[in-house]
Amino acid sequence: MNQAGTDIYRKLQQHLDTLPIGYPATESGIEIRILKFLFSPTEAEIALNMRFIPEPIKNIYRRVKRLGMTIGELEEMLETMFIKGSIRKARLEKGDGTEEILYQNSPLAVGMFEYQVNRITKEFYEDFEQYMEEAFRDEFSSTKINQLRTIPIEKSISPEHHIATYDELNNIFEDAKQIAVSSCICHKAYDLLDKSCNSMSERCFTVNSSALNAVNRGYGRFITKEEAFSILKRAQEEGLVIQPGNAKHPSYICCCCSCCDLLSNIKKLDRPWELITSNYYTEVDSDLCIGCETCLERCKMDAIHIENDVALIDKLLCIGCGNCVVSCPEEAIKLKKKDKEVIPPDDSTHLFLKIMDKKAELRRKEKGIE
Ligand code: SF4
Ligand code: SF4
Repeated sequence: MNQAGTDIYRKLQQHLDTLPIGYPATESGIEIRILKFLFSPTEAEIALNMRFIPEPIKNIYRRVKRLGMTIGELEEMLETMFIKGSIRKARLEKGDGTEEILYQNSPLAVGMFEYQVNRITKEFYEDFEQYMEEAFRDEFSSTKINQLRTIPIEKSISPEHHIATYDELNNIFEDAKQIAVSSCICHKAYDLLDKSCNSMSERCFTVNSSALNAVNRGYGRFITKEEAFSILKRAQEEGLVIQPGNAKHPSYICCCCSCCDLLSNIKKLDRPWELITSNYYTEVDSDLCIGCETCLERCKMDAIHIENDVALIDKLLCIGCGNCVVSCPEEAIKLKKKDKEVIPPDDSTHLFLKIMDKKAELRRKEKGIE
């Protein structure tokens, strides 16, 4: 590829780095190889002219018509990019019953990476892992508002604790107009690497417009609410960590095992509990605990160890999933509600706007501007 071709990917990297979840450069340049997998040079030029806020085609066309394409050709390109999982698509319902299609840039994760369920290769996953190590883990964890939160297993919450409606999975599924399920990309990656992940594979939920997107991209299938509850029940029995997007109305719900790329990367950091929002924490009653280690095996965060035949929980690692609570034969672990409840933003657009506000606030502080 000539210099001009490479330059377009560097410009795209710099553009994506201005998103709420950025896309920083590395010394190795691995981020450019990832972009080449996700975008052709023309697609990169179009993505460079898009925003992280969803907008209609006509707005994007104003910025790209100098490339010599018609609005129809742009629409075709945007659809190809959407199917490839390099951009997002949203639908704005209008008062007259019609809807307007909107497109937007996507962060690498949660976003472009997870949309590669049907396209992932061993090489792409290895590049993604290298990029995680070199730059993206730090970027992902640097936002002051988290992308993910944990919803504890319902049975693990004592009746005296009031559960907010957004912390009830039943509400998310009951309110959904449509639900889709798809295979977990981390599970697929493990297959490609000949590593074994023993957890169930089909366990990633999307709702409403995102469910339609997953089906249109070819990796999701629509399911009924009953099937969604049945898959969720199995996921909880397997001890998977239930993690929706950090919004009152999340567009996706991940059920993560310890192979999960984001969970395993967050585990490598000092204070995982700060990086996944949860309104709960755990406490062990040392008088009831018999040191049987059941909870230890169940915890995906390796947050528990046994000392003098009693389970001890590392509060910096615990993300309040409740898996240990439901598995304890002695009912020695309890989930407690934190004093200060964190109320999630309404939806992913509000989440991204909040992340941007916090980033701007930090930059102002760094520059000494009040
Ligand atoms: S499962 Fe319960 S009894 Fe067993 S070690 Fe854990 S807290 Fe203690
Ligand atoms: S100790 Fe582990 S299993 Fe228990 S709530 Fe915390 S993260 Fe979940």
